[in-house]
This record gives sequence, C-alpha cells and structure tokens, in this order.
Amino acid sequence: MAAAAKAGSTRLAYFDDMGAIRSTATVISLHQEEGGRRAVVLDATIFHPQGGGQPADTGLISSAGARFLVDDARAKDGVVFHYGRFEDAAGDGRTPPELKEGQGVTLEINAERRSLNSRLHSAGHLLDSCMTNLGLNLEPGKGYHFPDGPSVEYKGVIPADQLQDKKTQLEKQANELISKGAKVLVSVFPYDEAAKLCGGALPSYISQDSTPRIVKFGDYPGCPCGGTHVADVADIGNLKVTGIRVKKGVTKVSYSVSP
Ligand SMILES: [Zn+2]
Repeated sequence: MAAAAKAGSTRLAYFDDMGAIRSTATVISLHQEEGGRRAVVLDATIFHPQGGGQPADTGLISSAGARFLVDDARAKDGVVFHYGRFEDAAGDGRTPPELKEGQGVTLEINAERRSLNSRLHSAGHLLDSCMTNLGLNLEPGKGYHFPDGPSVEYKGVIPADQLQDKKTQLEKQANELISKGAKVLVSVFPYDEAAKLCGGALPSYISQDSTPRIVKFGDYPGCPCGGTHVADVADIGNLKVTGIRVKKGVTKVSYSVSP
C-alpha cells in the first residue's frame, strides 16, 4: 500500500513524519454511519488507517470544546475515515459540541499504541531479512502485525526436520540485529530509484508510474511499505519467534516483541 496522493484524498502526514503524535488539520466532512457511528474526514491525518497488516491508530480530534474520540480509522479510495463518537464531557443530557466542516482541529494519537504497532511492523520486516540471512530465500507474503498474535508468511516451505533449528536461529539472528541497531529509512521515491533500493526490482503489484514508499533497514534491501516503523532497529526491543508452521506450501512465522 504505497499509493500516491490523488485529488480529494487525505494527505497521509505519517508518510512524512512517522514520529508525529500531534498535528493539526482541517475538517473536510462529517458522516453518520449505520448504527449511529460517526466518521470525520480531514484534509490530512497522522492516524494510520488499518491496512497493510497494521492496525488503525486511535486517539482524539478536537477543537473549541468538541472532542471526537477516534476508535478506528479506515481508508477508502485514498480517503481516511476516522470513526468514533463525540465525547459528552458535560454529561447534562444535551448534545455535546460537534466539529464543523472547514474547522481547524488538533489531532492526537494514542502514542503507546502507535509505538507498539510500529515495533511489531518493523519486527515483521526484520524477520524477512533474517530469513534471507539464514539462506531461506522464500518470497515474503502476508504480514499480520497486530498485537494479538503477529505473524509473517512466506511462499515456500522449510523441511519439517529443520523447523526447530530454524526457529532458534531466526530468533537469535533477529536479536543480534536488534542489539546492533540500524537506521530505518522510510521515504517516497521515484519508481526506478525505489526499485534500486529494493535489490533491483519491485513486486508486480507496484505500478510503474507510481512513486513507491520504501522502508529500508540499514544496508539491507528495502521493500515497499505504507506503514509506520521504529526510527532505529534497536527500538524493536526483544523479539521472540513463538512458532513456525508450514501449511499448503506457505511458511508462517509467529512472533512477539517485548521491551
Ligand atoms: Zn510493511
């Protein structure tokens, strides 16, 4: 997920600054969803919408007494919808103050949740490099970087009699790289430059007329990614490989991180 900005789309402010947990924006529109749920669309956002294997940010959008508590964010056709409800701070039975179109607002994301999501996402990418280092040249597939059981999948299999060894080696290798640390580069590049940073070629789902966003750890080859990451590999913390399972030609590596 590394789409370039389209007209009418929400500018993804975390593309430029992943470390920002506060920002400002302008309300574009307010929506009433089924079941009374509300949604706010802004011109720009630091909220990462759920996608690319990473959960949505939660937090607060506020202005002039109106407080919109964001419990989910989703992108549709480049527009980020912030879902939630207006906080009834007064609790006097009257409708709480709401946001208006055109209003300037302050955005705050839940920093702890974001930090964990970034660590889990970076850990998933780090495991890709470790797999290659161990001579397991399996093509990375889906990543699930949610706190409730994160995993990364690879096309291809590890023979059953090697699973236990590879699990141990993978974990050791990952923690070695984490203790060494490496700068994490995340940026948008022209297609050819992006391909170069990713070892010469990009996956076919990346359009040749796009400017892909690339994440790259130190000297390792980069890969296209739309998510948020730690600033340095050392920030991932301790990584545990909790299991490797091979099923229907796919190898699934489950992991966790701790401080
Ligand atoms: Zn990613």
